[in-house]
Amino acid sequence: MAATDSEGPDRRWSKASRYARRAEVIRTEEVAPTGTMRIRFRVVDDGPFSFLPGQFVGIEYAADGLGYRRSPYCLLPPPGGERDFELLVRVVQDGQISRHLGSLKAGDEVAFRAPTGRSMLPKDRSRELILVATGVGVAPLYALARYLLDEGFGQPIRLYWGLRRPEDMCLTEELDDLARRHPNFEYEVSLSEWPATWAGLRGRVTESVPPLIPALGGRHFYLCGNGAMVEEMDTALSDLGVAEEFIYKEAYFNRRHKPDEAKMDALRGRFVADDLFSPFSHQSASLFEVHTTFQPAGRNVTADASSDLFRRVPSGKRLPREEQGPSTGPG
Ligand SMILES: Cc1cc2nc3c(=O)[nH]c(=O)nc-3n(C[C@H](O)[C@H](O)[C@H](O)COP(=O)(O)OP(=O)(O)OC[C@H]3O[C@@H](n4cnc5c(N)ncnc54)[C@H](O)[C@@H]3O)c2cc1C
Repeated sequence: MAATDSEGPDRRWSKASRYARRAEVIRTEEVAPTGTMRIRFRVVDDGPFSFLPGQFVGIEYAADGLGYRRSPYCLLPPPGGERDFELLVRVVQDGQISRHLGSLKAGDEVAFRAPTGRSMLPKDRSRELILVATGVGVAPLYALARYLLDEGFGQPIRLYWGLRRPEDMCLTEELDDLARRHPNFEYEVSLSEWPATWAGLRGRVTESVPPLIPALGGRHFYLCGNGAMVEEMDTALSDLGVAEEFIYKEAYFNRRHKPDEAKMDALRGRFVADDLFSPFSHQSASLFEVHTTFQPAGRNVTADASSDLFRRVPSGKRLPREEQGPSTGPG
């Protein structure tokens, strides 16, 4: 992924325009009062245009006296219109490009770079998909689910979507339609500020989702949105034995978030699944006794599975594939 966090205004502006493609705004709609816009564009140049779920366009913004800035936005496939694309944009108050996008009107033009980025499509089609999004990170995960289900993907796809309040919800018509048409798709919204009447999941997705996943083996995880959620879930999943190739992650912001150990301990503890082998699983289950001998500075130190020595395995260290234990889960 070429996109990186911005370092400051000086480094983000350039003197020259870099994007030659042009798209015209067809429609704009405010879909949540927190400043989430759904914007439909039509490509008006002659270049080829197609994209796969997970790919993004670069949008360029020009400001008088400052120059040009660019930022990536994931593509939402609109119904119909082969040269159309939609973006779901969270307009952030101190953000220049998102505010510019939020101010666009039908007929305005934007400069963009053709879709780039990895496709999210899973190579192994035998795995259940667990999609976890926060905020506008739902767009590419919805795009992925729609693409796969319309292609006849037969495994369950579960989407968990973290938002703050009920009024932040959007895209629900499309998500409900997908769930109606495909019994193997379901989605749940988790609110961090829920009203008393809320019947869905409660809390951040890092709180509400781990207890709902009965096994980690046989699944492919997709994490998209706030970098804090992405980093925390990614670290917990890999600590619990999920191989890197089965975790797809896309952080939109907070990309340098480093969770502290106490937070990671709490998060790992919320997972009920312990079907994969890892230094963090089976510690309390006592399914088997583990003894190992360390030789720090010539001394022998013997530890069992409950030992603190296991806790000192750096969180986030990935297990190579061959160290993965067999999945005992249903999937
Ligand atoms: C691969 C990729 C795909 C992306 N796709 C999308 C997309 O589909 N839709 C979308 O809205 N954004 C998306 N983003 C983020 C987008 O590129 C911009 O970073 C974002 O719009 C903010 O740009 P800005 O210039 O307005 O504000 P900036 O000056 O970059 O940021 C201003 C402040 O807002 C914070 N911030 C940025 N985004 C959010 C947010 N969503 N919620 C809360 N705070 C935020 C930043 O951390 C910063 O503190 C994507 C990012 C990446 C890396």
